Amino acid sequence: MIGDIEKVLRAYWGYDGFLPLQKEAMECVLSGRDSIVVLPTGGGKSLCFQAPAMIMPGLALVVSPLISLMKDQVDALKECGVPAARIDSSQAPEERNTVFARLHDGALKLLYLSPERLLSDGFIERLGQIELSFIAVDEAHCVSMWGHDFRPEYRKLGLLKTAFPGIAIHAYTATATQQVRGDIALQLRLENAQLLVGPYDRPNLIYKVTRRGNIVSQVCAVLDQHQDESGIIYCIRRKDVDQLCADLTDKGYRVLPYHAGMENRERRINQEAFIQERVNIIIATVAFGMGIDKSNVRYVIHAGMPKSLEHYQQESGRAGRDGLEADCILFYGGGDYGTWQRIMGEMDPEPKEIAIGKLQDIFNFCAGVTCRHQSILNYFGQDLDKANCGACDVCLGDLDLMEDSLVAAQKIISCILRLDEQFGADYTALVLIGSRDQRILGNGHDALSTYGLLSDYKKRITRDWIEQLVAQGYIQKSGDFNVLEVTTKGRSVLQGLETPRLLKPAKRPARVSKVAKDSWDGVDKDLFEALRKLRWKIAARKSMPAYIVFGDAALRDMARRRPASPEEFLQVSGVGQQKSRAYGSAFLAAIKEYCLANSVEIARFSAQQDESKSYGIEVTDW
Ligand code: ADP
Ligand code: MG
Ligand code: ZN
Repeated sequence: MIGDIEKVLRAYWGYDGFLPLQKEAMECVLSGRDSIVVLPTGGGKSLCFQAPAMIMPGLALVVSPLISLMKDQVDALKECGVPAARIDSSQAPEERNTVFARLHDGALKLLYLSPERLLSDGFIERLGQIELSFIAVDEAHCVSMWGHDFRPEYRKLGLLKTAFPGIAIHAYTATATQQVRGDIALQLRLENAQLLVGPYDRPNLIYKVTRRGNIVSQVCAVLDQHQDESGIIYCIRRKDVDQLCADLTDKGYRVLPYHAGMENRERRINQEAFIQERVNIIIATVAFGMGIDKSNVRYVIHAGMPKSLEHYQQESGRAGRDGLEADCILFYGGGDYGTWQRIMGEMDPEPKEIAIGKLQDIFNFCAGVTCRHQSILNYFGQDLDKANCGACDVCLGDLDLMEDSLVAAQKIISCILRLDEQFGADYTALVLIGSRDQRILGNGHDALSTYGLLSDYKKRITRDWIEQLVAQGYIQKSGDFNVLEVTTKGRSVLQGLETPRLLKPAKRPARVSKVAKDSWDGVDKDLFEALRKLRWKIAARKSMPAYIVFGDAALRDMARRRPASPEEFLQVSGVGQQKSRAYGSAFLAAIKEYCLANSVEIARFSAQQDESKSYGIEVTDW
């Protein structure tokens, strides 16, 4: 049966293989056993239920929390020629009736629904006359109060097992915690469910973490590397969003804001403009994102530190869903910790303690000097299978390790001890660089033997080193004033028993990550740009998001293969039969024109007739 799925994948989606865990997840659907599938954002969860639905008898129900998500997925499926539909509150009654009529004709393979709709009066009875293949619950962490997007309506999904006895339920989520997984099984009353947890790493994301300086120019530097590409900039507070919007608009960038303080309508308009690529840059708080399946977000910038690594993983994970390289750049400052503490001010003591713990974890991540991919994976209980990820600031050597880390660390630690562990990081840094600050002179600390020991360095670097030592557990911050204390591990540094890793800002230019190099391998960039423009035109005409017409990955493959015939066009990854028929001639013409005009070799890969893409599968227009 999995062989049939492979055929369907080629015919409808134009894919030649599975992403990690997809095959196992699909086999589980075929076998009819309940399952929970955990894969990161962009891991390809939708296909895990969409492809089996195509070959199993009956209709698959898909529960999804947001209309925008449903619309996006159903539009994408229709583009591929998959008979899918949705029923939601935004539709006119006639539209809904058409869907019902097609349901009864057995013409549909997938039906997307909100939980409210599925469990509403009469709906279950209505479905009772229709053969079901299985039920998929997308974004299943919404059932859990432990997750970050709890939806009370999702709780009622526990009724599904009684309403549809004998029908398997498959739950999909990107949330990694054990607690949430357990809750999903419990709330959905899954029976003997198979738990499938995929690799959590997103190798195509290039993480870079930098201290915040002049944030506007730091952000602009990133934006200028991504002209005409889509990206998200996250800020901590609404007012930061508004400020950055104003600053960037002043500089001539076209940006739109998104935060919970705005009216629903305005938010929807801005989100739509971003998805349809009428604007490339959105500046937002955490409120933005869950309804976004846009696959070609090429960068996510954090202008401030998120409040946990879970949040960071989620938000940065919105970049590069299409598997192509994408930049995730985090700018953090010492003040972010305090800002979050103030925002959390009102919480109950117990959850607050947990929240503060998470805040400390992400701060340590920021100040830390171990591979970012490795750090994030470790946080979620997995391990990276290589020593150098080739896709983070640490591994790419953007950050240089100090040759004499030990000596610098010893100077810092002895200074903290000389200050009797009574002062914070700022003050300690000032003493170390030999500042003539009034407080220091007033306290007579210019007479300490450690005064001015790091006078060759700027305060900011010294301050960073202190944070790096905190992150590595050599010193800790304590009390309301974050006074620095030396840990036992820190004391062993003084005896030279341990050597911390301290960074100095890099001087040599950063190397290009391998993921970026590979995904552009053989791609004619100018042709890619030309195809992007064509895609945009087609999408605008159909008022459809551009990435639904073709993903960036498909365009790059076109600009690499440069097909000259319909047969060759079908071999492009991401081109299925329906899209080939709908857009083939337009794209083939553009490729031919470009190659002729620029004397570029066309049809680089010969077209052996690819049987599998047309064999045995009928794609019908409907
Ligand atoms: P998730 O729901 O896990 O975040 P999606 O289902 O939205 O992920 O898929 C992310 C991207 O991966 C989409 O752009 C999709 O087209 C692509 N994709 C999924 N499966 C495959 C595959 N087998 N081969 C190539 N691309 C795939
Ligand atoms: Mg998804
Ligand atoms: Zn790394």
